[in-house]
Amino acid sequence: LQPIQVIGGGLAGTEAAWQIARAGVPVILHEMRPQRSSPAHHSQELAELVCSNSFGAQSSDRAAGLLHAELRQLESIIIAKADEHYVPAGGALAVDRGKFSQDLTKTLAEHPLIELRRGEVEQIPQGIVVLATGPLTSPQLAEDLRRFTGMEYLSFFDAASPIVVGESINQDIAFRASRYDKGDADYFNCPMNREQYLQFWQALCAAEQAELKDFERDKAKFFEACLPIEELAQRGEDTMRYGPLKPVGLFDARKGDFRSPENKSQRPYAVVQLRQEDKAGQLWNMVGFQTNLRWGEQKRIFQMIPGLENAEFVRLGVMHRNTFINAPQLLQSTLQFKQHSTVLAAGQIIGTEGYTAASAGGWLAGTNAARIALGQPPLTLPVTTMMGALFEFISCASPKHFQPMPPNFGILPQLPQKIKSKQERYAAYRDRAFADLASWQAQISLGLAGVA
Ligand code: FAD
Repeated sequence: LQPIQVIGGGLAGTEAAWQIARAGVPVILHEMRPQRSSPAHHSQELAELVCSNSFGAQSSDRAAGLLHAELRQLESIIIAKADEHYVPAGGALAVDRGKFSQDLTKTLAEHPLIELRRGEVEQIPQGIVVLATGPLTSPQLAEDLRRFTGMEYLSFFDAASPIVVGESINQDIAFRASRYDKGDADYFNCPMNREQYLQFWQALCAAEQAELKDFERDKAKFFEACLPIEELAQRGEDTMRYGPLKPVGLFDARKGDFRSPENKSQRPYAVVQLRQEDKAGQLWNMVGFQTNLRWGEQKRIFQMIPGLENAEFVRLGVMHRNTFINAPQLLQSTLQFKQHSTVLAAGQIIGTEGYTAASAGGWLAGTNAARIALGQPPLTLPVTTMMGALFEFISCASPKHFQPMPPNFGILPQLPQKIKSKQERYAAYRDRAFADLASWQAQISLGLAGVA
């Protein structure tokens, strides 16, 4: 068997290489550090945690915790080593980052089927390949990736708006409509009167921002066309009302026709719009709300918007350097490229967000790369599991507005029954995910699962 080439020894690449070797297939794991480093990495170890040492909430009725549990069930090396090097951190799965990465480096280097090759890969090689070079992919490889994917399918900066769970929007206040009735009432609209708008504007102007890293400041300058909402606010009292909060052409049909002159006084002073993010309409993106505010500030201030007072955020806004491909355009849910089925990708570069999601992508891409080498059909996971839902989302979301997505319950198919309590609803999602994952694994061991 020809060795499979995994490019990038981060969270995704480390997991992918391990799963390939576990399947009995030789693998070369390419890592550019220490010859060349990224602006965020500090060591030469595999699976370095570039910032926080936490993999997120541990409880399996939380999105991150469910993903940990699924990966544990699938014998992920990253989660096994995270468990081994656990340090107490409230309800989170946090690790001793040094020991965690050193142990993974040693474990992989000692595996007889894994060759750890240090050095930058500048071109996507021939053969079966897993691309896992992360948000800070080296510039030369990124250039080759542009050629490979087509220029417009690669982004270098993530200026993302918050995403809200549809069920948490107060629909007594927010109304469905498209501007000038174009489209099919595609948006949720949160109307503000003058007083509400001014309070919101003042809060935004006074809000605390997150620090951009040195290597991000230059990139951020290029984003005149996509300014953060707080920057718009600072440009003047009415700037947002002439931009994303424009109140024109939006009417709440429940309150009569605002177009008629006698209803003029009831017209909203400003309107915040939310656009549907997923096929099932469970996730809603705040239009024009890309932001660099601190996460706590975002929650506090965006919940001042009428209709969003109890909003549940599955992702808050971010602005940072992030190389990622337009996965809905380019990838299948097996993590193979549609146009090059022997090239797979995983990690932050496919638009999943966070350490655990990167490990999950590494598990699937590695498993499928090995299956391709062995002449077996690649796998997709049940969409009712957090892993399956994540890969279904990134391969089927709208390519036009695609932005990275962390694990969250909003991407899972709805439950057959309505459950009001959030905690019980999440526990029901978890129970369904566990049951479906177990029967899927049983099918695989009988050789029944897989897609052509
Ligand atoms: P990485 O872990 O970055 O791994 C990619 C690897 O590929 C690196 O080791 C790199 O050296 C290597 N590489 C790149 N190009 C080449 C090449 N051409 N040839 C060979 N090797 C190459 N997520 C969180 O969950 N929590 C956080 O606190 C957090 N903080 C972050 C802070 C910053 C500044 C950044 C940029 C990201 C942060 N993230 C965080 C997101 C984080 O990057 C991912 O969660 C995770 O590291 C992604 O894993 P990955 O395997 O895709 O990429």
